[in-house]
Amino acid sequence: MNRKKILPFTIVAGFFIVLYFCADLCPAQDGFNTVKTAYITLDIEPSVDIESLSRRLDTRFIYLTTNAIKPSSETGQGALNYKVDLIFRKVEELLDMYMYPEEVNLKIVIYGNKQSLDSKYSQLYGAENTFEAFYAKEDKVIYVNAANILTTILAHEMAHYIIDEYFVINPPDKVQELLAGYVDEHLRN
Ligand SMILES: [Zn+2]
Repeated sequence: MNRKKILPFTIVAGFFIVLYFCADLCPAQDGFNTVKTAYITLDIEPSVDIESLSRRLDTRFIYLTTNAIKPSSETGQGALNYKVDLIFRKVEELLDMYMYPEEVNLKIVIYGNKQSLDSKYSQLYGAENTFEAFYAKEDKVIYVNAANILTTILAHEMAHYIIDEYFVINPPDKVQELLAGYVDEHLRN
């Protein structure tokens, strides 16, 4: 390879190397902390307390109803990531709709308060938010408020994502809502 060819090659290779490492290490543009679980990208507002968020996501009943192994620790980011993935896998099981982890392109944006969630909703839809959490199918993003998140709420929104990805032609909104409702109703079964 001569020198003229090496330079563009180096620039292109450098670009992809930066892109590769950025996927895991670069903070989200709006100052949120970006974390990858085995399945999902989490964008977490810096004010969110990881421990209390993790405590709010009760997954003990999932340990009881599946063969999932308990995490070695109930604290820290690792425990939170484990719980998020566990809930996602439980939703897949309830819907009988499965995805390989590398196919999942879902992001969860976790705000520290309701005001941030509400202002995101009105920015996206130009209306007042009446939801505890919502799934924006255009961007494949679930928006939640860490202060009032529950396992059932998160599972419901994950169900919307999985249904959205699974069907080539999406069922009517009412049917999607019925399926997502089935998931949070039967989460403990
Ligand atoms: Zn819904």
